[in-house]
Amino acid sequence: MSPETLLQDPSSTPSSDSGGAFAPDRFDTYVMKTYGRFPIALERGEGCRVWDTQGREYLDFVAGIATCTLGHAHPALIEAVTQQIQKLHHVSNLYYIPEQGQLAEWIVKHSCANRVFFCNSGAEANEAAIKLVRKYAHTVQQLEQPVILTAKASFHGRTLATITATGQPKYQKYFDPLVPGFEYVPYNDLEALENTIADLDEGNRRVSAIFLEPLQGEGGVNPGDLEYFQEVRRICDETEILLVLDEVQVGMGRTGKFWGYENLGIEPDIFTSAKGLAGGIPIGAMMCKESCAVFEPGNHASTFGGNPFACGTSLAVAQTLEKENLLENAQVRGEQLRENCRAIAQQYPKIFTAVRGWGLINGMEINAEIELSAIDLVKAAMDEGLLLVPAGPKVLRFVPPLIVSKEEVEQATQILAKVVAKIAS
Ligand SMILES: *Cc1c(COP(=O)(O)O)cnc(C)c1O
Repeated sequence: MSPETLLQDPSSTPSSDSGGAFAPDRFDTYVMKTYGRFPIALERGEGCRVWDTQGREYLDFVAGIATCTLGHAHPALIEAVTQQIQKLHHVSNLYYIPEQGQLAEWIVKHSCANRVFFCNSGAEANEAAIKLVRKYAHTVQQLEQPVILTAKASFHGRTLATITATGQPKYQKYFDPLVPGFEYVPYNDLEALENTIADLDEGNRRVSAIFLEPLQGEGGVNPGDLEYFQEVRRICDETEILLVLDEVQVGMGRTGKFWGYENLGIEPDIFTSAKGLAGGIPIGAMMCKESCAVFEPGNHASTFGGNPFACGTSLAVAQTLEKENLLENAQVRGEQLRENCRAIAQQYPKIFTAVRGWGLINGMEINAEIELSAIDLVKAAMDEGLLLVPAGPKVLRFVPPLIVSKEEVEQATQILAKVVAKIAS
């Protein structure tokens, strides 16, 4: 087809009228149907607000699912990506990359880790952690059949190894054979963990690592129990098992601390980060202590991992977190959000059974006995101009940008109150 015919074909001419530049049916003709999408298309954002192709404004309490740390079009983000693309955006890891080194140094100085490996997503960061654990099992722990324990209701990504690590059968269906060497335990249940470790030991399969989220995000915004994690750390120390934490959703300030584990008073041996790390530019990272940094040249790699563009942007996010006191903002605004959500939950005790979270990752649990699902509430809130995301079938999740203001939290919870009042009537 010549360019002329393309232009004459009305269906291939981008239009700016209703339906936006690309109508849903046309979109679905070409894009693989891997997502259930809401029938809006977002085209512009500023701070905690986004606009769809019809010009409708929304308060964004999704932030690309806990990813747009600084919200949309933040001046620091714009400056960082502009400067970096003008200077150098990508080179191979065949060479030293200053921005990668600077970001690794920042992470090491602001965490319990000594070493960082960079990749491009959460699943990849967890893959790197799984590979590191396997190498450690074979070379240091001297285990022939190492097992990684993960939690039920966890979420660790969509690659084969990470859906295996994910303790939810719905993500594994159709994709067997899965990766060997994983077992599952209920989250926050110390007795079950101890029993599983002992049972495996008797069968000659030894536990190499315990792999957990500090707070389960996708699984329903379930915070880790302080005592449980302290006991897990003690067990790991006594039995020389590695503790790996998936910080992909909760790391980089989301909980009001740089890392989720700081809420639990423990340090992991290995942890991973991605979502919010570069504020919405793709990046992933796997961090570990010197004692388990067993990778050598050739063991692991990534073409895009740690490139100047992603690392330069992530550095700007890190500097802005500090300069704008966003950890404190996440704590204070999170407290306000939970208070307001609790007031709504108390007014409608038949609808909501719990409000929970840390900093700016929070959930409202809907009564299991009623028909209402999280998706129903998300849709109703969207119609009123508030974007929310479910965490499982019965939990409403709030993960706004860390720059969210007092007024925006008030507005969001007012919209939610209105939506709930309508549904309850
Ligand atoms: C989102 C998420 C992942 C997967 O991250 P991707 O970037 O989508 O691969 C892994 N673990 C947790 C806890 C997550 O929330």
